[in-house]
Amino acid sequence: MTLADAEAFAVAQGWPRFRGEQVWRWVHDKGARDFDEMSNLSRETRAALAERSHIGTLTIAEVQTSRDGTRKLRLLTRDGQSIESVIIPEIDGDKTTQCISSQVGCAVDCQFCATAKLGLLRNLDAGEIVDQVYLARRLLAEVDPGRRLTNLVYMGMGEPLHNYDNMIKSLRILTHDKGAGMSQRRITVSTSGLVPKLEKLGLEDVRPNLAVSLNAPNDEIRDEIMPINRKWNIGKLLDALRAYPLEQRRRITFEYVLLAGVNDSLRDAAQLAKLLRGLKCKVNIIPYNPHPEAPYQRPTPAAVDAFQDECKRLGLLTYLRKPRGDDIDAACGQLANRSNGEAIVPLRIRKAPAAPPPVE
Ligand code: SAH
Ligand code: SF4
Repeated sequence: MTLADAEAFAVAQGWPRFRGEQVWRWVHDKGARDFDEMSNLSRETRAALAERSHIGTLTIAEVQTSRDGTRKLRLLTRDGQSIESVIIPEIDGDKTTQCISSQVGCAVDCQFCATAKLGLLRNLDAGEIVDQVYLARRLLAEVDPGRRLTNLVYMGMGEPLHNYDNMIKSLRILTHDKGAGMSQRRITVSTSGLVPKLEKLGLEDVRPNLAVSLNAPNDEIRDEIMPINRKWNIGKLLDALRAYPLEQRRRITFEYVLLAGVNDSLRDAAQLAKLLRGLKCKVNIIPYNPHPEAPYQRPTPAAVDAFQDECKRLGLLTYLRKPRGDDIDAACGQLANRSNGEAIVPLRIRKAPAAPPPVE
């Protein structure tokens, strides 16, 4: 429910409208998961709420912790679907990023991505998207109280722009100043490049950062590794991005998964630099994270460096993404509901822990 939905719900129960806001704040700001935590409501109201509604749509099935501190959460929906979300603490800083899922599986079928192999099972609703954040916030308060979630990326399972309305609704809820109050500047939505939806996103009042999975310097390569390119090719994609209303001091992020022998030559780097010239952007270079279902290989460290150096030499702003959590299949492109059975942290969430600190 949005705040307005909660107020309408209160009115429909014959309660004053502000009761909706009270309850909504308990859930979204304070992170309550049980009506009995709502100490400013009467026992009767809490009982009525418990009878007519429920809080939270997901439960944690499993938490795996990587040697680098990354935690992968496997979460169950109320109808028994399994999704994954990853908490990534910065190694030498306070930033803590959560990578959240927008769908169960994905329909886009990128050839290098493990999620693609699941196909699309269904969209997540807005509640299931935001609940990933609330469960992570609560887990962090328990296992790592010095940290708070600071950043959010829609880069888990699924194509967020294929689930457009729920994605927008989740952004509105997460950024609401009476709820979790997350900063739009610290949220990034990543897409494989659905051009009409990108145009629509540009008109919204919520303004997350935008990331685009480009992954190739020309249509020939992109057609092969991302079939969506046959529908909206690089030319159409870049036209839409040139027209995208970017806020001041923001840049579009391009993701570029480096696949050995496919898109990692110096010629590819030069073509990429030329392609993106003049766009306010940066490129995240992600060396391919292996998984059993794809035939690709990660380039050698020397090849990765050479590719990045060539991009830089030609004036492209690039960052090399280090794989995080790859020992637990939590790195980019590895989310596919697998559990290797190792490093599973038994879950011990107290029944009613103190409210977590607000998300920054
Ligand atoms: N569907 C959206 C959001 C998911 S983001 C999108 O594709 O943008 C997932 C990111 O991981 C994408 O940038 C994708 O290119 C990248 N990726 C997928 N498989 C990968 C793999 N095996 N190794 C490294 N990166 C991968
Ligand atoms: Fe879907 Fe993104 Fe994976 Fe492509 S990379 S299959 S769009 S999740």
